[in-house]
Amino acid sequence: MEASGVNYFLEFTYLIASILFILGLKGLSHPETARRGMFMAEAGMLAAIIGTLFHHGIITYEWIAAGLIIGTIIGGLMAVWVPMTAMPQRTALSHAFGAFAAALVGIAEFMLHGGLTMPVFTRSALGFEVMLGSLTTTGSLIAASKLQGLIRGTPIQFKGQQYVNALLFASTVGCFLYSVVNPGAPGVFYTMTGLGFLSGVMIVIPIGSADMPVVMSLLNSYAGLAAAATGFVLGNNVLIIAGTLDGFSGFILSILMCKAMNRSISNVLFGGFGAVHHTAGAAATGEMREISLEDAAVRLAYANKVVFVPGYGLATAQAQHAVRDLATALEERGVTVKYGIHPVAGRMPGHMNVLLAEANVPYGDLYEMERINPEFPTTDVAVVVGANDVVNPDARDNSNSPIAGMPILEVDKAKSVIVLKRGQGRGFSGLENPLFYKPVTSMLYGDAKASLSQLAQEVKNV
Ligand code: NAP
Repeated sequence: MEASGVNYFLEFTYLIASILFILGLKGLSHPETARRGMFMAEAGMLAAIIGTLFHHGIITYEWIAAGLIIGTIIGGLMAVWVPMTAMPQRTALSHAFGAFAAALVGIAEFMLHGGLTMPVFTRSALGFEVMLGSLTTTGSLIAASKLQGLIRGTPIQFKGQQYVNALLFASTVGCFLYSVVNPGAPGVFYTMTGLGFLSGVMIVIPIGSADMPVVMSLLNSYAGLAAAATGFVLGNNVLIIAGTLDGFSGFILSILMCKAMNRSISNVLFGGFGAVHHTAGAAATGEMREISLEDAAVRLAYANKVVFVPGYGLATAQAQHAVRDLATALEERGVTVKYGIHPVAGRMPGHMNVLLAEANVPYGDLYEMERINPEFPTTDVAVVVGANDVVNPDARDNSNSPIAGMPILEVDKAKSVIVLKRGQGRGFSGLENPLFYKPVTSMLYGDAKASLSQLAQEVKNV
């Protein structure tokens, strides 16, 4: 340990960064504190970068400056240009970058030391880092490509795929273990790296884009663990702490998302869920009743309590401001307005919270599923804004439905329901939704943003 002031500065900034990461993560656990949490995490990252710039091991700043400039430009452009609806694939790309960085650092360390001079623990951490880093890089790139529609979003499957994948995975782990025990075999280490990159592709292609958010959250967790392993290799505490936080929070998030969809992680990874589009489910009977804009506005204007239930359609229509405007128009008439938020509405965790926060909807008006469900029987109008699966009563009533057991927002228990959607499009699961055929339900067709804006205008005229 060097006794220079510079090293104390480095350790101090890392300590500050670690504290900020922990506080940031805590802040992210609630919508009200999420923005502050994000700023804290950003400040933590800045502290870690500044500290690292004072590392005694740096002999030249040229490459670092080049990396900083290129990284800042790419990050800035992505933040400005990527639309909210493309946030999942943007996040997948970030995971790919992070994981690739971890893999490259590991490969560079191996090239420097050949693994020979490292203690077994460090060698294991290095192998783990490169194995997970390479797998996560290609896995995340495939996830981003599927979500962006660059490659087919439905599962890409072939006969015997699971055996091929099991063999591939076993070979990768085998090479990892061999290179830990025999550090003098660089060929095996590089073979492991290549197999890791291939594994990422093979593991993710059979998964439908529908399940990508869960996969991404798992890959995020792998990227975090790879970063933590990098920390052990480099003796870098902030990487160990940040990587571990990332790794475990990502894993917990994957479990929570699976729970909210009533799926298991193995079912997501090996179930080929996205392949079941337009399959089973209850044969919905009856007919859909359309409602005119004027009638819908009157029903809303004379209601006592209205609950908005946003879904993926709110995101595609970018209707968050329009829903807020309609809510304001109703509140000005004395109507009580609440928002029912399903944990997996949209395409990424917290999707609805982020959108509604952008439109400055007060956090106090957002109700989680467990809190809003008991309120539907006393709700005059439940307005479903581009949601489908998360309000599908089949999940509750039909044990044969592929989404049976998935908790839903029970809008069908409200006194009346108005569904805003463009046409007969199905939800993410591809299933028919009996809600649309129930006597309490009326359909208001059109783009959600246009319908909401017109409704707000009509309500003001009532
Ligand atoms: P959804 O089931 O995907 O349904 C969205 C509906 O929005 C569609 O039926 C579509 O019908 C309508 N829509 C699309 N664009 C619209 C527009 N511009 N204006 C009006 N309506 C529009 O959405 P959801 O109810 O939010 O359910 C989310 C699904 O994603 C669940 O199955 C969940 O398991 C899955 N998922 C979510 C996450 C997550 O983290 N949030 C992760 C993985 C999977 P039209 O085409 O007729 O308009």
